[in-house]
Amino acid sequence: MIIEGRSLVRSYGATPALRGVSVAVDEGEILAVTGPSGCGKSTLLHCLAGIMRPDGGEVIYRDQRVSDLSEAARARLRRTDFGVLFQFGQLVMELTAAENVALPLLLAGTGRREARTAALSWLDRLGVRDLADQRPGEVSGGQQQRVALARALVTEPRVLFADEPTGALDTLAGEQVLGHLTRLAREQGTTVILVTHDARVAGYADRELCLRDGRVDASGLGLVSEAAR
Ligand code: ADP
Ligand code: ADP
Repeated sequence: MIIEGRSLVRSYGATPALRGVSVAVDEGEILAVTGPSGCGKSTLLHCLAGIMRPDGGEVIYRDQRVSDLSEAARARLRRTDFGVLFQFGQLVMELTAAENVALPLLLAGTGRREARTAALSWLDRLGVRDLADQRPGEVSGGQQQRVALARALVTEPRVLFADEPTGALDTLAGEQVLGHLTRLAREQGTTVILVTHDARVAGYADRELCLRDGRVDASGLGLVSEAAR
C-alpha cells in the first residue's frame, strides 16, 4: 500500500461532501473513484493529494501523515511525489508545449537544458513531440491534454491524481489520453487515482471505488459492473 485515506470527513459550510470514506491504494494500482455528480469524488481526490485538508480522518502516504503536514510541506510533497491532471489541462497559455512540460522541473531546480531534453522526451512518449514549440491555443483539446499529461509525469511522480482527465474530450481523444496514461503508469509503476463518472473510463482501472452521497457505496456495485449488466 502506498496511500491511504482513513475515515475522511469534509464539509463545505453546512454541505457534507465526505461522511467517513476509507480507501487504501496499492503501489502501481490504477484506482477509479466513481459515482454520480456531487457524491464527493473531487473532494476525496483533493484530500488524498494534500490539496485540501479533511475536517476529520487522516491521509497516510508512505508513513507520512499528509493531513497533519503544513501547507508548505504538502506543497513540497505535491511537487516531488505527486502529479496532478485536471479536466482542463490548465496549461500556461503563454508558454509553448515544451516550456509547459519543463516547468515543474525548472521549479524543482533542474537546469534549463536538462529540463528541455526531458520535456521533449515526454512529449515524444505521448506522441506530441511535433507540437513542442506550439502554444496550447494552437492545438486540439486532445493534444493539450496529452501535453498536460506529459507535464504531470515529467517529475516521475509516484502517485498521479487525475480528476475527470477526459471529461472535456471527445471519445477518440479521451481514449488516446487514457491509453497513454495507463500504459505509462504501468511502465513507470506509477499509482493512479482517477476520478470519473464515466463507466468506460473506469474500465481502464484495476479497481473501482464507488461513492454515493459522501460514503463508499455499500452495494459494491460500481459503474463498471452496472454498465456490464
Ligand atoms: P463530485 O466530484 O463527485 O462531483 P464534489 O466532491 O465536487 O463531488 O462535491 C461534493 C459535494 O460538496 C457536493 O454537494 C458539492 O455541491 C459540494 N461542494 C463541492 N465543492 C464545494 C465548494 N467549493 N463550496 C460548496 N460546496 C461544495
Ligand atoms: P487529437 O487527436 O489530439 O484529439 P484532433 O483530431 O482533435 O486531435 O485535431 C486534429 C487537428 O486539428 C490537430 O492537429 C489540431 O491542430 C487541429 N485542431 C483541433 N481542434 C482545434 C482547436 N480547438 N483549435 C485549433 N486547432 C485545432
